[in-house]
Amino acid sequence: MYLVKTPRLVQRLLPNFHWIGPSDDSDPTIYLTFDDGPIPQITPWIIEQLAAFDAKATFFCVGNNVRRYPELIKATLAAGHTVGNHTMHHLDGWESDNMPYFHDVRHCALQVKSSLFRPPYGRIKPSQAQFLQRHYEVVMWDVLSGDFDPEMTAEDCYGNVVKNAGPGSIVVFHDSLKAERNVRETLPRVLAHYAALGYSFAALTPELLAQNESAQDTTGTQLRTAN
Ligand SMILES: [Zn+2]
Repeated sequence: MYLVKTPRLVQRLLPNFHWIGPSDDSDPTIYLTFDDGPIPQITPWIIEQLAAFDAKATFFCVGNNVRRYPELIKATLAAGHTVGNHTMHHLDGWESDNMPYFHDVRHCALQVKSSLFRPPYGRIKPSQAQFLQRHYEVVMWDVLSGDFDPEMTAEDCYGNVVKNAGPGSIVVFHDSLKAERNVRETLPRVLAHYAALGYSFAALTPELLAQNESAQDTTGTQLRTAN
């Protein structure tokens, strides 16, 4: 069970996580993200699709995949994309004790040089988040394509994105075998759709997210005290 669109309430209750990125009304920006790679079956193809639209994106890499395919993370960075830590073994924070979880994040950090972190499954305990936020920007999302879901058709995934993602949206896709079928059909259409609407596709960086944080501060101050 998962929600395609992260409710505003959840975003407001957890203001220390990044749910959206900065976007200018006159120059709308969307942030595509790809989790769980890199793998040779799909990551290079995604990089080609992005290049066709001069799009930049963010890849939350599983350290174990980077260890197996170091050339793929190099190619990702060389193409101008950014990368983030997604743990070494794709651990579920809710099911993990803190010390092994932090160890797995550190292990991934040896492969993935980045201060962006996305918890696998979006599941992270408050105590884990508190500690990791000393070192990382924790990046969630506001729209899930659902590409990993075998029950979803590519048409469903496309609808999930275009009906829900707007300026500043952080959209989740996967460079994984499970998602491959849906990503191959959906990604080119999503890129064409937003390009036609005049959007830029940008990669997330800690600097960009910091910029967005100060924009949110003016409205989020009261809720922050409840956290
Ligand atoms: Zn993942």
